[in-house]
Amino acid sequence: MKYNIAVLDGDGIGPEICSGAIKVLERIGEKFGHQFNFTHYLIGGSAIDACDTPLPVETVTGCLASDSVLLGAVGGYKWDNMPVDKRPEKGLLGIRKAMELYSNIRPAKLWKSLVSASPLRPDLVKDGVEIIIVRELTGGIYFGERGKGGEGKDAFAWDTEKYSVYEIERIMKIACELAIKRSKRIISVDKANVLESSRLWRKTVHEYAELHYPEIQVEDMLVDNTAMQIVKNPAQFDVVVTSNIFGDILSDEAAQVTGSIGMLASSSLGDGTRGLYEPIHGSAPDIAGKDIANPIATILAAAMMLRDSFGLQREYSAIEAAVGSVLEDGYRTADIMQEGKTRVNGSRMAQLIAERI
Ligand code: NAD
Repeated sequence: MKYNIAVLDGDGIGPEICSGAIKVLERIGEKFGHQFNFTHYLIGGSAIDACDTPLPVETVTGCLASDSVLLGAVGGYKWDNMPVDKRPEKGLLGIRKAMELYSNIRPAKLWKSLVSASPLRPDLVKDGVEIIIVRELTGGIYFGERGKGGEGKDAFAWDTEKYSVYEIERIMKIACELAIKRSKRIISVDKANVLESSRLWRKTVHEYAELHYPEIQVEDMLVDNTAMQIVKNPAQFDVVVTSNIFGDILSDEAAQVTGSIGMLASSSLGDGTRGLYEPIHGSAPDIAGKDIANPIATILAAAMMLRDSFGLQREYSAIEAAVGSVLEDGYRTADIMQEGKTRVNGSRMAQLIAERI
């Protein structure tokens, strides 16, 4: 098959890590008989420098015309003092909006060979952990009605958490599509003992799964208990679906369980199959241009693209297995270096992974 991928390298380490992911995708193409066409577009600080805007029109048009988008990261010291609408992050928010992406999927995976990187006790994580948080991205309290009034000690302010059946069903569909390819289990996180919006959430996720995905088992968990369970027994989780604010908080907590920012990928999806795939870390200006950045998060983001946008499960598994094998053999970039292991630079890490596919 032929796939057109828009690549938004961005700033800092963005071009290095994207080049590592492209190397791996090209190897997948050779091995499995696919053709990946990569077209690079500007975003973030590099776009500000070249076109005086963090999100040029050609970038939006190119992404909308592509089969999917791979993003490095945006931002850096140089643009830190720009006015708000000219900041690199504005490019990122703008492209998510233009592509109408309403879900954010963040797998927090702790690889068995990196168990000692986790801040948790080894016996809690010895068999590895993979928590996939599916977060609703465009609704809830971050986008609800808000206001403020009064003055001094009488000042007050409010924000509104509101969800419609339509919004809950469309995020649940994304969670079900993921769960069906995995454990067929979903934990839905809410605060239904207190919030009316959570009670609608709970009712809707069950009705939706029973009607459309009867083979999937849906369990409910209150958000406060979930926060506790993630550190108490992280291995019990597989796919977790939740609202915007709960997902925001829990995904950072789950990421921390894995102990290494350079290993975690994320995707944002909307109604179609086209998605935006990126590492969860930023542009790391402190190490940019030194070829020491870990490319694995971006390589895993590319793997998620193959699975979730193109339906290429075997190709996804091939990348995941290659990453696991390179780690098992003791190769490490600086950020995940451990005693007795072999340190390699970023481009070598990508090369090693590509060679094992
Ligand atoms: P960061 O994630 O860029 O870096 C935090 C620390 O982790 C740094 O020490 C960095 O060297 C290290 N690090 C990050 N990625 C790494 C990798 N792949 N390999 C090895 N080490 C890695 O966060 P920050 O320093 O707070 O932000 C830097 C810039 O990135 C800022 O301009 C910020 O706004 C931007 N940012 C962008 C995104 C994005 O594009 N999605 C996300 C977060 C931050």
